[in-house]
Amino acid sequence: MPRRGDGNACHDSASPSGGRGAESLDCIGGALGAVYERPRIRMPPDIPSSAIHPEVARTRDDMVALRRHLHAHPELGFEEFATSDLVAERLASWGYAVHRGLGGTGVVGQLRLGEGPRRLGIRADMDALPIQETTGLPYASRHAGKMHACGHDGHTAILLAAAQCLARTRGFDGTLNLIFQPAEESLGGGRRMVEEGLFEQFPCDAVFALHNMPGFPVGRLGFRSGHFMASSDSVYLTVRGKGGHGSTPHLTQDPVVAAAHLVLALQTVVSRNVDPRDMAVVTVGAIHAGSAPNVIPDEVELRLSVRAYRPEVRQALRERITELARVQGEALGVVVDVDYHWRYPALVNHDGPTRFAREVARQVFGQEALLDDLQPLTGSEDFSFLLEACPGSYLIVGNGEGDHHATGGCSPHNPGYDFNDAALPVAATYWVNLAEQFLSSRYRSCLPWTEASA
Ligand SMILES: [Zn+2]
Ligand SMILES: [Zn+2]
Repeated sequence: MPRRGDGNACHDSASPSGGRGAESLDCIGGALGAVYERPRIRMPPDIPSSAIHPEVARTRDDMVALRRHLHAHPELGFEEFATSDLVAERLASWGYAVHRGLGGTGVVGQLRLGEGPRRLGIRADMDALPIQETTGLPYASRHAGKMHACGHDGHTAILLAAAQCLARTRGFDGTLNLIFQPAEESLGGGRRMVEEGLFEQFPCDAVFALHNMPGFPVGRLGFRSGHFMASSDSVYLTVRGKGGHGSTPHLTQDPVVAAAHLVLALQTVVSRNVDPRDMAVVTVGAIHAGSAPNVIPDEVELRLSVRAYRPEVRQALRERITELARVQGEALGVVVDVDYHWRYPALVNHDGPTRFAREVARQVFGQEALLDDLQPLTGSEDFSFLLEACPGSYLIVGNGEGDHHATGGCSPHNPGYDFNDAALPVAATYWVNLAEQFLSSRYRSCLPWTEASA
């Protein structure tokens, strides 16, 4: 998920981090097997402590320590073995019925209270990225080349904090399904969970998820109905020619020159073929060819990232890119193989659930906490697969401003990124309130957003 704005130059050297003290920590239950300094987080001054759920506030230090444990022990997509063990153990200890194995390492914790017919899903992602961390934090990754650089450690800790609170306060009437998903980053863990029967085994009337967002202050929550994130597809073009000596280009079919023409021709897809009122992106992110100045290679590989909001545009991009590859190849005497990978569909928030989710935030944190001018993002997110199968909404929570991990403003996927622990009690409080309101006995005969017409 991209950062708001365009910066990508986080300070990534070790440095003092605001509010992160150096006292020794009582290890949480001994289960985490590691000792970090006691987490001390400083709430932004404009978030009244009364807005934080008292039960969330009570467990806050434990949950921050757990988040930092996850941060120190990142696991890549579909390899979240220790993470899913920890999640499953925690959920079971709080009385949840725990199901494992959907999507490989996926975990679903279910808690039913009362006779309420409503069923709610809340999803968190658990996976890390293949990045070498450079924060220098005491709880920095202990796994070389792996890092929680997108804050999924925070998302998991948030949902666990809410799970603990909801199990203790028991303030709802219905079925709560907490979905801990593997492999959000590129590998489509969300798709796998859906394909393997997530909503058949755990039917939900609505499903919600959140993502931290550097660039916005902690305590802000953003909602948007309709298109919120783009589809994301990958295209591999192989330009096949006939290599030879660099001194005799007339005896070759040069794939390098053909690839260069193709790169420029691809720039016309968005500018000339897509309606200017639609969003589309065609990025050539990689070119691989050759090895020496005097050798014309046999082939060149191009790797493209292709994005859109509307499925019609997504389909049109595929057709135009495929056609351009063919005709450019013919014109320049080479063959272009097209390997087109549909990856994530656009993320489209449903209107009713989004209005409901926004109203919960307004009631809990006040109007000033809402980010109402949220623009759609060109990043992608595989929660889109869940939203294709079930009504719901995806929201963002501010991770902090600036450009340093200490303030939460560093861009995700940067080696200097860190989830901002100050956002944890805010987001956990939000999930608790959303669950209690969605699964309220008030809505026995209707969904919350249809209350007026029920
Ligand atoms: Zn990410
Ligand atoms: Zn992410």
